[in-house]
Amino acid sequence: EERTFLLIKPDAVQRGLVGQIIKKFEQKGFKLIGMKFMLASKELVKNHYSYLSNEPFFPGLLKYMSSGPVVPMVWEGPNVVKNARIIIGITNPEDCIPGTIRGDFSIQTGPNLIHGADGVEEANKEMYLWFTQKELI
Ligand code: ATP
Ligand code: MG
Repeated sequence: EERTFLLIKPDAVQRGLVGQIIKKFEQKGFKLIGMKFMLASKELVKNHYSYLSNEPFFPGLLKYMSSGPVVPMVWEGPNVVKNARIIIGITNPEDCIPGTIRGDFSIQTGPNLIHGADGVEEANKEMYLWFTQKELI
């Protein structure tokens, strides 16, 4: 069965949106495989977003992502990689459809509440960056 990696970002934790975000994936019917609550080091965030390292906003992204606790998660289900991205909404919240997480709860491209892996390969790479094999049930 397909698995994806999702990460609730510091702004969502600070705004008390963790429960509402998790509920979206639960009520859809996806299965929770792993979850924890932690502070991410800049080193870890650097690895996670390595494909953006040449972007002008990269230093700000590292600062934002390590500014408070995050909630990394692994979810399982049919087409879960693509479906989770749909539930999350597109990168620019201004164009995000209501009903999506970013569409309902965010207005900025920077602090946009949650990350979703882009593809099955990325999901696999990311989940073992944030979790050990033992932590995934
Ligand atoms: P994510 O990978 O977090 O799910 P995404 O796939 O929608 O988001 P990416 O292009 O992968 O978008 O960018 C990763 C993250 O970098 C974004 O979620 C956002 O927090 C930040 N980011 C992207 N573009 C910008 C920008 N132009 N200005 C500021 N921050 C940005
Ligand atoms: Mg991305």
